[in-house]
Amino acid sequence: VSRLDWAPVSLSCLLSCLALLGSAEAEAQPITLRAGTLLDGTGEVRRDATVVVDGGTIARVETTPGPATYDLGGLTVLPGLIDTHVHISTHFDERGRAASADEPPERAILAAAENLFLTVASGFTTVQSIGAPEDLELRKMIARGRFPAPRLFTSVRPVSERTGTPDEIRVFVRAVVADGADVVKLFASKSIREGGDPTMTAEQVAAACGEARSLGRRTWVHAHSAEAVRRAVAGGCTAVTHGSQVTEAELSVMAERGVYFEPNIGLVSQNYLENRERFLGTGNFNAEGFAFTERGIPLKLEMFARALKVPGVKLLMGTDAVAGAHGRNVEEIIYRVERAGQRAADAIRDATVVNAAALGMEGRLGVVRPGAVADLIAVEGDPLEDIRALRRVVFVMRDGVVIRNEVRGR
Ligand SMILES: [Zn+2]
Repeated sequence: VSRLDWAPVSLSCLLSCLALLGSAEAEAQPITLRAGTLLDGTGEVRRDATVVVDGGTIARVETTPGPATYDLGGLTVLPGLIDTHVHISTHFDERGRAASADEPPERAILAAAENLFLTVASGFTTVQSIGAPEDLELRKMIARGRFPAPRLFTSVRPVSERTGTPDEIRVFVRAVVADGADVVKLFASKSIREGGDPTMTAEQVAAACGEARSLGRRTWVHAHSAEAVRRAVAGGCTAVTHGSQVTEAELSVMAERGVYFEPNIGLVSQNYLENRERFLGTGNFNAEGFAFTERGIPLKLEMFARALKVPGVKLLMGTDAVAGAHGRNVEEIIYRVERAGQRAADAIRDATVVNAAALGMEGRLGVVRPGAVADLIAVEGDPLEDIRALRRVVFVMRDGVVIRNEVRGR
């Protein structure tokens, strides 16, 4: 998908997005969506189903025909997609370069708003941002319900080996949770461009994950090498992200201990390479780093194929989306199916039901069933037959409010 493909999307969405302003009150009555095909998230497929939405919640799913508020009869309806790993405020600046901290804050925050819009318009109604302090203001703005955006979870600020001793790390975790973090992010290994070795000690990892758990918060551990992954599992952490060097042994232990695994194989590296000139010279992006990124792509594909073979691994769908990737999150799902051979139904289940559980929202998000939040999207075609159908999102509802609708008047 080229960046230009978004131009018509943004224009056509503008009208329906403006309607959002008045829709919170207007849709106080129950509304109905007729789905030609309904994928409920768990793997169940229903034909000609009607979803009844009341007050932002799914009231019931019916099969009795009758007039519907939104006739999505020729489309496939599924739960709003979830991405457990984005960097929502990352963007390219006015010079087209990966933005740095010296950019004026008003430009930075508007770019973040644009990313939120692109993300929800592409069918992702929930994202977890790994994470930046400005996420707190974004989350507040989203909660006001006047801006078309996905629901946002955030880690605000990460823990790293430089945070300090285990005791200092516990103090930091309490502070970041008090600031409003939904999840605690640990930087427990070097980046893949620097080899991925562990950076935090086992004691530091256990302190962070233990403290977060005692405060009722989940933990997300950036870990590439097998040893860094083992420390996260031993520390009782919720999820491991990246894991580019995991072997069957770590995958089995993660499965056994119920630790979620969020590999990012289809979008982040490819996006860095597509936008090489924009990143080159920023952060640790040099020629050597790019060579490493390039070599990493087939290795990550092999790693994912290994993960599919280990029974019981709880795979998450997280993209690690940075500048250039927002709104293209679905490419991770497509890559998993087309390149890594994951079953389409499983890939969709990861991006809905499994992701919801990893966010502590089991039964509330990622499913179409009574009592769940009314986050629903519709796509042209059947993603079970052709996963690329997920690129053709024509309807998005979040919390019972229609954010995008290109079905009307067709
Ligand atoms: Zn990341």
